[in-house]
Amino acid sequence: MLALEAKAELQGWTEPALLKVSGLKEFAEGEFPIQNMMLDLRSDPLVRSESILALPWAGFLTDDRITSPLSRPSLKLLGDPAIACVGDVIEIKPAVSKIAVRYRRGDNGNVLFATERCNSFCLMCSQPPRQIQDDWRVGHLCELANLIDKDAASIAISGGEPTLLGEGLAQVVAACASALPDTHVHILSNGRNFEDAAYAATFKDLHPSLTWGVPLYGDHYRLHDYVVQSGGAFGQTIKGLYALHAAGQCIEIRVVLVKPTVERLSSLARYIYQNLPFVEHVALMGIEPIGFAKAHHQALWIDPLDMADTLSAAVGFLDKRRISVSLYNLPLCTLPVSLRPFAKRSISNWKQDYLPVCAECDIKSECGGFFGWVTPEWTSRGIGPVKLEEHACARH
Ligand code: SF4
Repeated sequence: MLALEAKAELQGWTEPALLKVSGLKEFAEGEFPIQNMMLDLRSDPLVRSESILALPWAGFLTDDRITSPLSRPSLKLLGDPAIACVGDVIEIKPAVSKIAVRYRRGDNGNVLFATERCNSFCLMCSQPPRQIQDDWRVGHLCELANLIDKDAASIAISGGEPTLLGEGLAQVVAACASALPDTHVHILSNGRNFEDAAYAATFKDLHPSLTWGVPLYGDHYRLHDYVVQSGGAFGQTIKGLYALHAAGQCIEIRVVLVKPTVERLSSLARYIYQNLPFVEHVALMGIEPIGFAKAHHQALWIDPLDMADTLSAAVGFLDKRRISVSLYNLPLCTLPVSLRPFAKRSISNWKQDYLPVCAECDIKSECGGFFGWVTPEWTSRGIGPVKLEEHACARH
């Protein structure tokens, strides 16, 4: 797990700035304005030639061995030097002597954070909302999109609830379409604001590769509204899903496997098949034990071992009807062997970890492991090393 923030010695900066950490290759490719590039002086001695240093870089990334060119802005990381590497986009925060990584080259979990606000209050929210005015993020994210690698495979847009940016969200998606037309964009939204079909229509043809991940926690309004702690949410989300479909959008349904939802999972699978047959994918997801979830452990936690039959039935039902289905955030040893092919390594690199017991496991490289902040009360009693023979034999 590599942190996304670090303390730093910042010299010559007074204002926050977004910067592309760069080497000679990034400079030669000419895809980013040099005024937004921070030259990494730490590894390649070639970049320290006078003619290169004289270019109008935003600043220089140094370490204890390297002296920054006089009178030019510079940054020295305090902590793991790997936190910021060539290709990454960092935000420098002079007021608090910190940097934050806003894009990490090659990472599977890059997120454009849209807003802290939300119109739901989910029992297991991993990012508890704050009702603050943060529309300034629209300009910030458009600027960030311009500094992301053009060949990035995918990025997510998340929050909070991104649609609370209103037209601003469409601006961010349009900026991604312009700067990153080949990058898949995955927006996590509760879909409630798309009950306004005109708003959903603003996203029609906006990006060539865009998917909406929309959570649904029950086949009945009482269950869904309870989990998201918001009256009327179920109706709004269902209307929103139809409006997104009418606007030609790709949709993924995301179901977090909390106790009340698992109790009606078979009904929910049937509901999706009968009422939302247009969805491209259904993700059945283990809970992230952070944020509000920690206060609701008793109401939410169900050991994956105890949902094995229900999960097998729901996955089997959807798979048989050719609705693509995956399992996220569930360690392989907690799943019946028949379900393991559906499991994905879904936890972002910067959040993902293993337990000491995993060192003995033959299928560790296939397993997505745990959120780094998992605690014993959120850990299945089924965790234990798997031997390759038993894994392979049981599959045949
Ligand atoms: S022991 Fe660890 S690595 Fe192996 S399947 Fe279980 S959680 Fe995954």
